[in-house]
Amino acid sequence: MTMKTNARAVVIGGGVIGVSVAYHLAKYGWKDDVVLLEKHELTSGSTLMAAGNVSFFHSNYYGTQVNKKSIEIYKELEKETGQPVGWHTTGSIRTADNPGRMDELGYAYSMNRCLGLDVSYVTPEEIGKMHPFIQTEGLLGGLYWPDDGDVDPNSLTQAMAKGARKLGVEFNLHTMVTGIYQKSGGEWVVETDKGDITCENVVNAAGLWAPEVARMVGLEIPSISIAHTHILYESIQEIADRDTYLPLMRDPDKSIYLRQEMDSLILGLYEANGQQWYKNGVPWDYAQEELNPDFDNISDCIEGGIERFPILGETGFKHVTAGPITYTPNGDPLVGPAAPLKNFYNACGYSFGITQAGGIGHYLAGWMMNGEPEIDLWPMDSRRYGSYANWAYNTEKIADTYPRLYATIYPNEFRDAARPNRTSPIYEYQKQANAVFGDYYGWECPNYFPPKGEDGYEDPSWRRSNAFQHVGNECTHVMEKVGIIDLTRFAKTKISGPGAKAWLNHMTCQKVPEKDGRIALSPMLDHNGNFKTDMTVSRVNENEFFCVTASVGKKHDQHWMLENLPEDGSVCMEDITYQMGCLVLVGPNSRDVLAKVAYDDVSNDLFKFGTSREIFVGRTKCRVNRMNYVGELGFEIFHPIQHQITLYQDLMNAGAEFDIRLIGMYAMDCMRLEKGYLAWKSEMNVHHTPLETNVAWTVKMDKEFIGKKGLEKQKKEGIPQKLVCMVVDAKDADPFGYNPIFAGDERIGMTSSGGYGHRVEKSIAFGYVKPAFAKEGTQLEVEILGRKRRATVSAMPLYDPKNEKMKS
Ligand SMILES: Cc1cc2nc3c(=O)[nH]c(=O)nc-3n(C[C@H](O)[C@H](O)[C@H](O)COP(=O)(O)OP(=O)(O)OC[C@H]3O[C@@H](n4cnc5c(N)ncnc54)[C@H](O)[C@@H]3O)c2cc1C
Repeated sequence: MTMKTNARAVVIGGGVIGVSVAYHLAKYGWKDDVVLLEKHELTSGSTLMAAGNVSFFHSNYYGTQVNKKSIEIYKELEKETGQPVGWHTTGSIRTADNPGRMDELGYAYSMNRCLGLDVSYVTPEEIGKMHPFIQTEGLLGGLYWPDDGDVDPNSLTQAMAKGARKLGVEFNLHTMVTGIYQKSGGEWVVETDKGDITCENVVNAAGLWAPEVARMVGLEIPSISIAHTHILYESIQEIADRDTYLPLMRDPDKSIYLRQEMDSLILGLYEANGQQWYKNGVPWDYAQEELNPDFDNISDCIEGGIERFPILGETGFKHVTAGPITYTPNGDPLVGPAAPLKNFYNACGYSFGITQAGGIGHYLAGWMMNGEPEIDLWPMDSRRYGSYANWAYNTEKIADTYPRLYATIYPNEFRDAARPNRTSPIYEYQKQANAVFGDYYGWECPNYFPPKGEDGYEDPSWRRSNAFQHVGNECTHVMEKVGIIDLTRFAKTKISGPGAKAWLNHMTCQKVPEKDGRIALSPMLDHNGNFKTDMTVSRVNENEFFCVTASVGKKHDQHWMLENLPEDGSVCMEDITYQMGCLVLVGPNSRDVLAKVAYDDVSNDLFKFGTSREIFVGRTKCRVNRMNYVGELGFEIFHPIQHQITLYQDLMNAGAEFDIRLIGMYAMDCMRLEKGYLAWKSEMNVHHTPLETNVAWTVKMDKEFIGKKGLEKQKKEGIPQKLVCMVVDAKDADPFGYNPIFAGDERIGMTSSGGYGHRVEKSIAFGYVKPAFAKEGTQLEVEILGRKRRATVSAMPLYDPKNEKMKS
């Protein structure tokens, strides 16, 4: 058979992920317009080595949703394709032997309940009854998912391939992709050793070789291969004698999992010194070969397995499988549009690809065909990594991530690996001020500043940590005096040209400022009217706009703009992120400080709230926006990065008489909650429209813009959910997002973010609820770490509702 020369989509890689993407693209309509290319046989990479465990558990909400979808698909596949996949519903238990782990399970429990999953707490006694081979000493408890199971990875892949072939997908095995280029018209040409294929869309599902395939189109992707091991034991008579399957066990504190395989057990290990495999690229001719197990490295985990399951100590090994597995810096895969390219997608970097293949095939196919993802896939979106995630960064980060795969996850833990990376010029000053740093999109940013002489280390916790009081002091300081917040990491984009204004008006639901020096909060929406991103637009002049978005969204946001840029050259987009820093001067004394150093009148009469001006602050020419994210009188001072130290010294000297001090990210986040300011990917993601929120006022329906039709439809059909602010009766653990919200026993919504507001002295949650429950004063409950807490729907914002402070 000769290979097709044209296709709608070409999928590179015949592992479980590529096959699932091809199957779902065909199933949802592209049928025989899909071609899959595989350099060897199907399952020639990681897929063949996998143990086949499939669980609901994932560290984040959307990952859990992907896993849920996979399980639904796997249970139906045999019926759909006629090919058995070896699915067993065994249930699974995840154990805890320390309070921090119990809190992590509490987070998972509550987050899973947001999705309506069947999950329950189990005591050590119950665990012992469910798994007679476990030694429960030292366990505090666990979580049980009755619907988890396992599947045969090869059969699963073959079943989806069979389904895909039936729908018309062309599979070209022993066909190696050797190059990829884009024609001037935008079509891709995929070159292979059997000829070329021209296509509209390309999917990089090349697994272990995905970085090499990415390099064919000039991209670096953060994925590295590591040797991973599991051990199959000899037959065990007590297991052969059982008539029910044992649940899959995960003891993350011993870094192991254990599952039944026929009449025996498989022990899987995440050893402390995981060995990276072919750091500089996996050889093209590698296929289906097992690696040599490194017993020195895995012996601690084997011992841990015997401690927890003593029967392993009495049973011999039948087979030890060591195979390469891909890892990314945070262990989540790389999915979706590959910025800055158009119609080129990633579906790689999988370390739990068997679990996620079904779900990701479904969601990515939908995303490619409809232009928007059905669920928010941001935690997996390959654009979450910027250019900072280079080879050295990945090597260091992944060496830290792999052995910690089962380590307790804490929301406030910032690991040291691959840091510091990007720093502001004033980094040394921040260090001198005793900053405790976090890393955000590769930037070192102070989270908070404990007093000098105090330990600069935050205890990782799901509860209020040792940072709590220090953060409170920073909030009070900003409320009463003046502080500087370093937001150098903001993504900054200059939009200019004769078509700039009209184009921006098309891109955002807000009206672009009509006068020079005006600022507009300008959400960008997707085609359905849901939030794409949130942008602050300052008009420099008729043909030039200064646009600021969240640092972590830089690649995502700029990709969206680039994809929509007119081809006639009337609009120019320039990334000026790394040319400009931003220091935010905030607090009631901020104007007094600025007045001392500015070569300009910064009084309220001449520099009104919501305006932007070019001002000399000392010898530095700055763009100063009179606005901020904390709700006090304040100024965002954007400046050429090379002037930052001078500017900082000028401000600190001028502020000395007002007791000026540095303020961190944590305080800023507490204060934005009090002010009802929304955060991107928390309150603003693909599941929310502005009409459901307190920024509905930014929507100007008397003009055309992307997403308008979606909003019109929503207006006609009615708003399905409303964003509310709740004051929560929490004592030591505040809401954080993905907490279920209840009215009695009914689950009526989910929190989007939360924390403690030190200025109002209240625990605060934002969340989306059914409109009937959005009225001020409604009594609800928010579940935090597995415990329900009383919550009252409250006026938004809680702090300075008339904005008197900001406008003073
Ligand atoms: C020991 C071990 C145990 C595991 N256990 C589990 C588990 O229990 N549960 C779980 O969910 N996951 C598990 N995994 C992880 C899982 O196996 C992987 O995440 C998954 O298989 C990745 O699939 P993939 O399709 O992305 O990549 P791969 O399986 O690596 O497939 C990529 C394919 O692309 C092809 N290819 C590459 N380059 C080209 C090219 N230029 N031209 C044409 N074809 C090309 C390759 O030949 C290969 O067939 C395990 C992995 C290992 C190693």
